[in-house]
Amino acid sequence: MNITWNPWHGCRKYSEGCLHCYVFRIDGEHDIDSRVVRLNADFDLPVKMTKKGYKVKPGDVVYTCLSSDFFLEEADDWRERAWEIIAARRDLKFIIITKRILRASGCLPADWGEGYEHVHIGVTCENQRRADERLPVFLNLPIRHRFIVCEPLLEKIDLLPYLSGGGIEQVIAGGESGPGARLCDWEWVLAIRNACADAGVAFHFKQTGALFRKDGRIYRIPRRLQAAQAVRAGIDIVGRE
Ligand code: SF4
Repeated sequence: MNITWNPWHGCRKYSEGCLHCYVFRIDGEHDIDSRVVRLNADFDLPVKMTKKGYKVKPGDVVYTCLSSDFFLEEADDWRERAWEIIAARRDLKFIIITKRILRASGCLPADWGEGYEHVHIGVTCENQRRADERLPVFLNLPIRHRFIVCEPLLEKIDLLPYLSGGGIEQVIAGGESGPGARLCDWEWVLAIRNACADAGVAFHFKQTGALFRKDGRIYRIPRRLQAAQAVRAGIDIVGRE
């Protein structure tokens, strides 16, 4: 089962991909200031117990920190405890997606070693500039499972130089959703997909986004169809198990 664990909530906009951040959008609808970062009541969710054992069951996939960034400065005092919680549940798979990978080396737990086997870290690269800035750092960190998230994909990106070394397990690409969504182009998605094919890396086209250009024509795609249209494209590359 897939679980969402948001140990803290709130963030600061950091790069181009953050422009239409859904955390800010949804908080804004409820008059909440997303820049005020706070601990959530569910901070210890992965180690919470019921009479029948852990609330989060062995084997579950835990999507971590989706309403913030795990390596956000404002969370520095809380992260050590979060790592302890993660370390206590090696029977789960934790997925962490960050834009702040440049901070990660100073934010890893003392016993991290070459990485925890059950922690998968993904770095967002929305454009070439952020790929060039983040991926060399990412590839040099000790991490057992690495993936790249090109979402919202804002321009054509050449990822091949970062895929050839074998350190990346998967690339996920997708357009932007929500009000004011920026354009995503089929050719940009294909360029990433082809780089993955050349490098033997798994690829997943997650969603088209709300504004999608294909063969020079721009389509407005309702949210309920964005993932389905990506599946219909049939361009995923399944990774090696
Ligand atoms: S880093 Fe993520 S959570 Fe933070 S503002 Fe950017 S998109 Fe939103």
